Formats: sequence, structure tokens, C-alpha cells
Amino acid sequence: MTIVKAYAAQAADKPLAPYSFDRREPGADDVEVKILYCGVCHSDIHTARNEWGGTVYPAVPGHEIVGKVTRVGANVSKFKVGDTVGVGCFVDSCMHCSNCNNNLEQYCETGHTQTYNSLSQDKQSITLGGYSSHIVVTQHFVLSISDKLPLEKVAPLLCAGITTYSPLRHWGIKAGDKIGVVGLGGLGHMAVKLAASMGAEVTMLSRSKSKEKDAARLGAQHFKLTTDKDTMAELANSFNFILDTVSAAHDYNEYLGLLKSDGIMIIVGAPSEPTPVSAFPFILGRRSLVGSLVGGIKETQEMLDYCAEHNITSDVEVININQINEAYERTLAGDVHYRFVIDMATL
Ligand code: NAP
Ligand code: ZN
Repeated sequence: MTIVKAYAAQAADKPLAPYSFDRREPGADDVEVKILYCGVCHSDIHTARNEWGGTVYPAVPGHEIVGKVTRVGANVSKFKVGDTVGVGCFVDSCMHCSNCNNNLEQYCETGHTQTYNSLSQDKQSITLGGYSSHIVVTQHFVLSISDKLPLEKVAPLLCAGITTYSPLRHWGIKAGDKIGVVGLGGLGHMAVKLAASMGAEVTMLSRSKSKEKDAARLGAQHFKLTTDKDTMAELANSFNFILDTVSAAHDYNEYLGLLKSDGIMIIVGAPSEPTPVSAFPFILGRRSLVGSLVGGIKETQEMLDYCAEHNITSDVEVININQINEAYERTLAGDVHYRFVIDMATL
């Protein structure tokens, strides 16, 4: 066992505070990583505050991890000490169901093990995430990171990047497609960058007029204010795809009508409250509403390599760990440009 320093939520209504706990010693297939940077995802807030239910306290969030390998087990061939690596949203899965066999570990039929607040595959413990000095992960779930790009800007690719890249690839977004991205936060800004890099015509759909200039800089050709009823009416039948990254409950029906016939609305944002949807937007335009969860390990590596090749990183504000509670409040207020990343040297 190695004692690691961390920040944890002790209860849903308590701020995060310093904490320490034991990490397992690296086993034969494990990689131990000293964490340099960890991004702050809205999922961390949902979990720390038990908004989705099921949070086990103390909870250590963090699943946008970049660091250096400090130790490897005897069977580890993929990595050596000193390598720059990443760990994303999950750290284990059964490795033999049909989804795991098809590089879709995130949809493991018996349940994947997420990086935090998740049952380990041996059902013995609950995982603790990246707001910590070190993490130990089996080699299959560790990603190679290019040293070409600034690491603090790479960390958010491990969740915000892959969560938006995977559906863009799965549904084959290509040059000429018209896509609306809803919500300009961590996921939204990566969706704009990635969809634009694939040649799509991107419209930012935001409730925050103040983000208009940034949306253009990130690669959106158009900016539309979703709080304006006339604008929303004019946008009817406009898009082949809508990618919805919004973290709070909102009316999906308002967006479904913005799709062309056969258009697809992809939900990646995960509000805790359900939203009713009407049958009519589906029937009238043969439209679809679908969802997507992060991406498999193979695809995450592909995304990291794609971003290194195309010079795509996240726009970040680097914070000290003791600013984490303030960062949560600012994220909830929509005041994030466009990802907080913790410098773990400040732990
Ligand atoms: P974030 O940085 O807080 O961004 C969310 C954005 O949604 C905000 O910037 C805001 O954009 C918009 N928004 C927030 N509250 C709203 C409201 N009440 N009504 C309308 N718009 C609102 O969050 P994030 O880290 O990108 O995460 C977004 C969501 O995705 C979270 O629910 C998170 O848990 C989920 N998530 C899902 C996956 C997955 O695999 N599917 C992976 C990671 C995260 P505007 O100001 O532009 O409107
Ligand atoms: Zn995340």
C-alpha cells in the first residue's frame, strides 16, 4: 500500500477538503502514475454533490488525468518509467463480453469500473479518482500522451475530448454536415473544435451571449442564443446533427424540431432530472434522439493521436487544488473558459 494525498468530498453538502488514503501497490499488469494535471469535469460536481445518487463518501473525483509513469508491474510492456500517460473516465472492465471484445469497454455488459465512485471488478472497493497525487491502473486502460502539446491543455481531452469525438465519429460527421452544439462549457468547446476540424458547419447554441466571440474563435461559424424564441423558431429544420452537452435539465423538445428530417440529436450532457419528450418531432421528421458515453480505449488513443496531429487542445484555466470549491461554483454559474485544470503540484 502507498499512502497518497488527495482532495475529497466528505458529504454532498460539504466542500472538498484535504484527505489521504491507501492506493494498492502496482500488480504485475499495473502502471503507477504520478499525476501532474487533472481536469475538472461537471461529472465531478454531479458526483461530489450526489446529484445522480449513489455517491460513496469520502469521494475523490477526477477523470481527466495526465501524469508520468513512476512504477510498472512485471507484465507491463506498453509503458516504462518516465513515460507521459493519461487516464480517462474508466480504469477497468470485464475484458471478455462482446462490447469489451469490440473495443467498447465503456459499454461493458457487466459494468465497467469508472475512475471514481465505482465498484472495482473484484467488487471489493470503490474507486478514488484523480484529485490525488498518484493512481494505479491496469496497463490496458492507460493511454499514451504525446509530449508535443502542453500537458495541462491535454488533460481535458481524456473526458471532454473523447466524449465529443466518439459520437462525431460514430455518426460519421463530415464536411458539409450542419451540426448544432448545445452548451458552451468543457464538453461544448471541445465539440466545436473537433466538429470544425472534421469540416462540419458548426452552430453554437448557447444561453450566454457573452460567449459569442469565443464560439467563433473556437471554430463555430454561427452563434444562436437559445433564450431567444424568434431565433429558435427561425432555426427549425436546420441541422443534420445536434450534440447536446448541457449539464442541467432542459427541454429536449425545443431542440428536436431544429433537426432536418432524419436528423440525429445526440445527448452527452447528463442532467440528474428526467425530461419528457413528445412523440411528434420523431414522427413528423423521422428524427432520432440518441446518447453516447465517453469512448473506448482504442478510440481514446485514436482521439489523442488525432489531437496531437491537428494541434487540438482544450482552453484551460489552471488552478491550485485549494481553489477547487471556487472552481465548482464558477462552473455551476457557467463562468468557465472552458475547463478548469488542477496543477497537482499544489496538492
Ligand atoms: P460545463 O463545463 O458546466 O458545461 C455545461 C454547459 O451547459 C454550460 O457551460 C452552459 O453553456 C450549459 N448550461 C448549464 N446549465 C444550463 C441550463 N440550466 N440551461 C441551459 N444550459 C445550461 O459541463 P461539462 O463538464 O461540459 O459537462 C456537461 C455535461 O456532460 C455534464 O452533465 C456531465 O456530467 C456530462 N458528461 C457526460 C459524459 C458522457 O460520457 N456522456 C462525459 C462527461 C461529462 P451555455 O452557457 O453556453 O449555455
Ligand atoms: Zn468527465
